[in-house]
Amino acid sequence: MRKPILAGNWKMNMTAAEAVEFVSSLKEKVKDVTEREIVVCPVFTALRPVAEVIKASNIHLGAQNVHWEESGAFTGEVSAEMLKDSGCEFVIIGHSERRQYFGETDQTVNGRVKKVLEADGLTPIVCIGEKLEERENELTFKVVETQIREGLKGLKPDDIKKLVIAYEPVWAIGTGRTATPQQAEEVHAFIRGILSQIAGEGVSDEIRILYGGSMKPENVSGLMECENIDGGLIGGAALKLDSFVSLINYCTMR
Ligand code: PEP
Repeated sequence: MRKPILAGNWKMNMTAAEAVEFVSSLKEKVKDVTEREIVVCPVFTALRPVAEVIKASNIHLGAQNVHWEESGAFTGEVSAEMLKDSGCEFVIIGHSERRQYFGETDQTVNGRVKKVLEADGLTPIVCIGEKLEERENELTFKVVETQIREGLKGLKPDDIKKLVIAYEPVWAIGTGRTATPQQAEEVHAFIRGILSQIAGEGVSDEIRILYGGSMKPENVSGLMECENIDGGLIGGAALKLDSFVSLINYCTMR
């Protein structure tokens, strides 16, 4: 049984005050939800204030990035321990916007994932996905396989078991263009197959693989009917209370 996760990636949006207002309303609206895991990922400056509001609720806190060192001369960076200290239980790693604008590579993803796993208690949400030209050149499976194998290099099956994977076709992020359920499911099934090769079937069966890329109430049903889609990493639709709540309400236990 894989419990669906609905994770809102707020990107560089909302001040601390706006974030607090949002989660205060969200908390009320989802208070009876038990069969889904709800995660919000605000900007760093809103983590602590949001943590205060959602403490003892069914909403979990996530960050949008983490560094691979514990501390030191890394101006502008935040460590896994610091995120835990701010109340985080999840952290997004390797988002395509980090790869596109901030030089993220499979190797830096690997470093971040390892450090986060060392700091027991923080779950990495590892993002992978192909660009439009890669899909058009039929490179989707190759790209995704490389991202998984390199990003998770050196991890033991027991570590891999603790991960959440987000498949986010880059051409669908923030574009309003969603992968069809068939397109998404064939990559999700492929990802589970690769995870099975590197960590064993028992582990790969347990890992949640989220879909990300313009997920919204209008397209969630087809996606969530797919056997290997275990929820969503949601950008735009998670910034609006009503659409995030309807996505949460849609997803049931599988
Ligand atoms: C994302 O940023 O991870 C994302 C999926 O964004 P959107 O839902 O807006 O496409």
